[in-house]
Amino acid sequence: MTEQSSEQVTWKIYGFRHAINTVRKRGQNFIQEQNPETPLVLDFYSWVLVGEDLVIVIDTGMDPQKADKNNHNHVLSPVDGLAQLGIDAASVDTVILTHAHYDHLGFLDAFPRATFHMQAEEMSYVTGPWMQKPWFRHAYAPDEIIKLVALLHAGRLNLHGRTRVLADGVSVHWVGGHCAGQEIVRVRTQRGWVVLASDALHYYEEYERGIPFAVVFNSSDMLAAHDVIRDLADSDDHVIPAHDPRVAELYPKADGAGCPHILRLDVAPRKQCDA
Ligand SMILES: [Zn+2]
Repeated sequence: MTEQSSEQVTWKIYGFRHAINTVRKRGQNFIQEQNPETPLVLDFYSWVLVGEDLVIVIDTGMDPQKADKNNHNHVLSPVDGLAQLGIDAASVDTVILTHAHYDHLGFLDAFPRATFHMQAEEMSYVTGPWMQKPWFRHAYAPDEIIKLVALLHAGRLNLHGRTRVLADGVSVHWVGGHCAGQEIVRVRTQRGWVVLASDALHYYEEYERGIPFAVVFNSSDMLAAHDVIRDLADSDDHVIPAHDPRVAELYPKADGAGCPHILRLDVAPRKQCDA
C-alpha cells in the first residue's frame, strides 16, 4: 500500500490547437484596453492526458459550423488529433468538460463510451436564470446544452463538487469567473504539477498583468482564480492558458504526429525572450 502510493504516476499532456481566429482585436479580449484596434490572435485548445494505461480527454473542441459562423478557422477535430496519437476517440472512457461554452463542447458525440465530468455549478448556470441575459448566454449553444441534459439522464454526465480527484495525479478545481462553473485541471507530469487553466486564462497576459478577460461572469472570481492557479502549479512556467498563441511558440510539436497543431505540454517550455 505504502509502496504503491509513493509511486509517482506522471502524465503526458497533448494540446490540440483546434481553431485559430486571426481577425480578433485586443479590445475584444481585454476590458478598458488602451489599444483596442490592435490585432491579437485567439487560438483554441483542447487537451488529452495520456497515463500508463489511461487516457483522459479534456474538452471536445468546436463544431466546425459554429467556428465558421464566428469567424474562427477550424483546423483540427479531437477525433483526428487523437487518431494521430494512436487513440480511438470511440474507446475513451473519461472526458472532462472544463465548462460548457461552444468552443469546448463541439464533439460530444465523438465519445460514445465516455462518462463526462463537469462542475455541478456549470450545469445549474447553463439551465438557470442567468441564461435569460444575452451577455451571459452568448457563448453557449442550446443544441449542445440539450446534449448535456441527455447525457445527464443517460447516466453519462457526472456533475461533481468544486474539487475532485479523477485519477492519481489528475484533479479538477472550481475557479468560476469566466462562467459560473469554470474549472481548471491540475496534472502531475515528469516536470512537476502543471495547471491547464482552460478559460480561467485565455492569455498569459491576464495572469502577468492581473487583469480579467472581457468575457466574464464574475470578475472578482476571475482574478481570484489567478491565485488558485499560482498555488496549484509548480511555477508560472507550469501554467497553460487555453487561447494564447504564445503556447505554440513555447511548446514543441508532438513527436510522431504529422499535424502541426498537436503540441506536447508536459515538457519544459522554451525560454521566453525578454521582449
Ligand atoms: Zn474557450
